[in-house]
Amino acid sequence: MLLESNLNEAKEGKRISAKGYAVNHKNDTFKPFTFSRHSLGDNDILIEILYAGICHSDLHSARSEWHEGIYPMVPGHEIAGRVVAIGKNVDKFKVGDFAGVGCMVNSCGECDACKKSQEQFCQNGKVVFTYDCKDCFHDNEPTYGGYSNNIVVSQNFAIKVPNDAPLDKVAPLLCAGITTYSPLKFSGVKKGSKVAVAGFGGLGMMALKYALQMGAEVSVFARNKNKEKEALDLGAKALYDNTNNVSERFDLIISTIPTKYDPIEYVKLLSFDGELAIVGLPPTDDNVNISLNNLIFNANKKVYGSLIGGIKETQEMLDFSLQHKIYPEVEIISINQIDEAYEKLTNGSAKFRYVIDMKTLS
Ligand code: NDP
Ligand code: ZN
Repeated sequence: MLLESNLNEAKEGKRISAKGYAVNHKNDTFKPFTFSRHSLGDNDILIEILYAGICHSDLHSARSEWHEGIYPMVPGHEIAGRVVAIGKNVDKFKVGDFAGVGCMVNSCGECDACKKSQEQFCQNGKVVFTYDCKDCFHDNEPTYGGYSNNIVVSQNFAIKVPNDAPLDKVAPLLCAGITTYSPLKFSGVKKGSKVAVAGFGGLGMMALKYALQMGAEVSVFARNKNKEKEALDLGAKALYDNTNNVSERFDLIISTIPTKYDPIEYVKLLSFDGELAIVGLPPTDDNVNISLNNLIFNANKKVYGSLIGGIKETQEMLDFSLQHKIYPEVEIISINQIDEAYEKLTNGSAKFRYVIDMKTLS
């Protein structure tokens, strides 16, 4: 029924009615929320969301752990679904195609960063994140993410997904996949590289799988041994539950850790000229800092931060994942289990990626 009215709204150039689950403040639990999205522009597509992954960033945002969030907030930037309507200039998708949406829905398209398809770093400050953001292209209205039944997005920010792809497993690739694929490529991981992944959750699992596929020897750092079997079964060389007494040295370490820790512990484990790529972003109050003294005296090692990846690279990552059948380990949940999933992601009892089956949003 709702889909039918969405199609009429799209045809008539009206705002698109939507429903999802939202929090109203940082200590809130998720509740049903109805809202509307901007009308279907000439370059936009309307996607019926079928699956949405739960990223730890959703939790940081919903709880205002990085900055004060925009509420009501509908998180979700690991979106996979079906195109149900297209604007008149759309040539990348047709109705019925599968499509994915990640962390961004628009940017200026004109600056150096956008021209290089590094839209996440739009130099005109016009990158529009999928939720918890003001959409400067639509009267600064707040954006709402994927814990919902639909999304309207510029075709340039939607990723093409083949119609035989397993959509539930594709959804987390749109953030967890690209965020780990991008630094592995940036650091030039290849056959024989020695890589470590710190933090073995949704992102860490993808980093392990990609690095193995690229021919690296990979070890994992976790905060306990609970997932040792999973890591070793997938081909990891070792799983360490702390950084003490580790004799291995690594060309690249990717840190996906979302809690307080000391990055220097990992810098010390880099080989000469090694690189630490940081993607995990702990809460601001955790005050994670790098000691310059330690950094300088551990010289010739590079530490860099990495933010998702551009749209072109996201498409490349998706094609690479499908070609090599590299998917996340997912547990499908219904939309009323989001609070429970957040709790597990916080207390260490989560496995890898929770994915919401949007059929459960009635
Ligand atoms: P998950 O919660 O799925 O995974 C985090 C993992 O880190 C868990 O397995 C957790 O262990 C483990 N962990 C927690 N503390 C430590 C520690 N001190 N040492 C070692 N391991 C630890 O989160 P995600 O993978 O979804 O996200 C990870 C981080 O990456 C988040 O901060 C998120 O915001 C950020 N992120 C950044 C992006 C970017 O573009 N830079 C994009 C997407 C996410 P346990 O299993 O015991 O809980
Ligand atoms: Zn994410």
